[in-house]
Amino acid sequence: MRPRLHNLIFVFMALGVVVGVLLADVDDKTAGWYATTLQWLDFFGKTIFIGLLKMIIAPLILVSIVAGVTSIPSFGDAGRIGVRTLLYYVSTTTIAVTIGLILVLTIRPGDKSGAQDVRAQREAELAQRRIEFREETGKDPKAEESEYLTWLVEREGRGGTEKYKRVVSKRDRGTFDMFVEDIVQPMLMNPFQALAERNSLGIIFFALLLGLVCMAVGEPARALIDLFQAANQVILRLTNWLMAISPFAVFCLMAGIVARHGPEVFETLGWYCGTVIGGILIHAALLLGVCALIGRMNPITFLRGFREAWAIAFATRSSAATLPVTVRCMTRKLGVSPKVANFTLPVGATINMDGTALYEGVAVIFLIQIYGGMDDVGITLAGGAVLIIFITAVLASVGAAAVPDAGLVTMVLVATAVHLPVYYLPFIFAVDAFLDMFRTSVNVMGDAIGAVVVDRFERPEAERAPEAATS
Ligand code: ASP
Repeated sequence: MRPRLHNLIFVFMALGVVVGVLLADVDDKTAGWYATTLQWLDFFGKTIFIGLLKMIIAPLILVSIVAGVTSIPSFGDAGRIGVRTLLYYVSTTTIAVTIGLILVLTIRPGDKSGAQDVRAQREAELAQRRIEFREETGKDPKAEESEYLTWLVEREGRGGTEKYKRVVSKRDRGTFDMFVEDIVQPMLMNPFQALAERNSLGIIFFALLLGLVCMAVGEPARALIDLFQAANQVILRLTNWLMAISPFAVFCLMAGIVARHGPEVFETLGWYCGTVIGGILIHAALLLGVCALIGRMNPITFLRGFREAWAIAFATRSSAATLPVTVRCMTRKLGVSPKVANFTLPVGATINMDGTALYEGVAVIFLIQIYGGMDDVGITLAGGAVLIIFITAVLASVGAAAVPDAGLVTMVLVATAVHLPVYYLPFIFAVDAFLDMFRTSVNVMGDAIGAVVVDRFERPEAERAPEAATS
């Protein structure tokens, strides 16, 4: 009997973890063979597999949305599907942030001993900075507080890694700037440029317009509609072909991640990781409840049909790269109607990120728990600050691109909204890739369950034909 693809993916994922742990354990990380091994793992996992998936994302979003919209019978139906989808996205993201905030405020990972050691180190560092300020300027940091703070922020922000520079480049943007630069401008981009730059928002907006106009034109647009429907079938078949190499690719991706982020990073950040992952698991359980109660789909059936998409999301850390697989699982295996799946999944992959929203809230509060009250972090976790974190975490998740580490970059918005200096963010960089696997897989799960829920209202249960058990 031929092993099934989803079983193979999980076997290879486990093998990848084992090989990654062995590699992380290597003493001489400067050895030539070690670098070559990581290079080949990256080549097969990232360059080839993620590259192939990325190659089809832009055309997939365009054709699937046009095909989806043009198979909706009327404008009224299209409006209803749109409103239900957005309603689902807003409510589930809000619930995700709430879960994260409740957990981080009750568990208080920032007060645990590992994190408090970090606080003590930082306090010693700041005492040294005050001496340096006094020596450099001849002024008293207490009496000249605002000058001292400007000096400190300028000094601490210098240098840093590439990731840090990417984060800092977004520092001075307010919420409105983010709305204009990350949402409105990309949406109105020339569609060819949007396709070439893989700008999902631009492609989605153009595809929605194109689909709606095709509906309005009717019969004369028939040839164009048929072309998009056919292209949609072809892209889905292409995704099936790509999935043939997915087990090996997942092996390479997992081995590479585990090798680079060995177990030692969890010593100080263990409680923090536990809080994020705990929140994500609670949210996933809640989503499965929504799937059963509102979507009327058995969660086991859902998980069986969805597991390939889950594994790919976990290993690639990109909702966009997973999109072709998500569409395939939802339409082919779980019988969600293409008119709903083709619309809700690309939109969801771009703007609906429950895991990212939850993570951003937890991360910023965790940092305030550690550094709050220091010279440059005059914030307390009073109700107002928590509310600002709540709102900006939701916005930041909408603005995050569906690519690895995106949540880390938009977290700047949340941090600056409560005046947490961004040079404190690198403290959590070490575990970001690890947490990204969890948040991306729940991001994709949220989109998939959204498709089930919206689909349920569009047609009676008896019409659905899940093949999950047999695939
Ligand atoms: N990697 C996530 C995704 O693609 C976004 C994030 O970094 O939170 O869904």
